[in-house]
Amino acid sequence: MQTYTITPICAGVFQGAEKSNFAYQKDPGVKLKAPILMYLVQGNGLCMLVDTGGSGEEWAAKHHHRIVQTEDMIPVNALRKLGVEPEDVQIIVNTHLHWDHCWSNGCFPNAKIYVQKREIQFALCPIPTQYTYYESPQIGLRPSWLDGVERMEIIDGDYALCDGIDLLLSPGHTPGFQCVYVNTTDGRYLITSDSTGITEAWEDKQTWGLPTPSGIHVNLLEYYETIRRLYPLADQAHILAGHDASVLEHSVYPYK
Ligand SMILES: [Zn+2]
Repeated sequence: MQTYTITPICAGVFQGAEKSNFAYQKDPGVKLKAPILMYLVQGNGLCMLVDTGGSGEEWAAKHHHRIVQTEDMIPVNALRKLGVEPEDVQIIVNTHLHWDHCWSNGCFPNAKIYVQKREIQFALCPIPTQYTYYESPQIGLRPSWLDGVERMEIIDGDYALCDGIDLLLSPGHTPGFQCVYVNTTDGRYLITSDSTGITEAWEDKQTWGLPTPSGIHVNLLEYYETIRRLYPLADQAHILAGHDASVLEHSVYPYK
């Protein structure tokens, strides 16, 4: 099986993110500095992004939460530092269409964008608790994923993207969420993104014997089906969580 490298990119940092948003009812009131993460996946001629980060500081403060985004954190700048031009990106996988995961989709003119059918359907008409996350027209906003929509490849369910990379439909945080399962020289990595908001949520199995879902979710029954399904995979894989600062402790995965 082919192997790839995974480079985490910090596209901004939430300055006071509510911990219980990342792990359901865990330590309410505790605030975290939480990175907005995206990933560059490379190998065998492939240049792929998993997610494309969120907005700049002004927009985030106005519509979401205060973030810090240095020039180096702007996705196009971060990628140039890694030797990747916007035109080089062949594939984008959006784990889901929340604003902080698809903001820069439009910056990569040659990329096919893989999104789950259920995610697009829901993003067009979310439930009110999710309006802000999707920047939905129902509250007078224009979703950033519309940039590049003509290049979207709509998939429906698990999808073998290429040798060594699988997209796994993982509903719960959102209806059409997908995790990215990547083979490396150090075994599989599971990019769980917001399905596991922080690493602690996955490791915190003591209470119920299963990892803790994100505090932000649309369906806990489906979420637990997802967790049960991913659990055996994740026990043999490395988890890359959605907004956990520890992901940035290594500049590239695998790191040994
Ligand atoms: Zn999300």
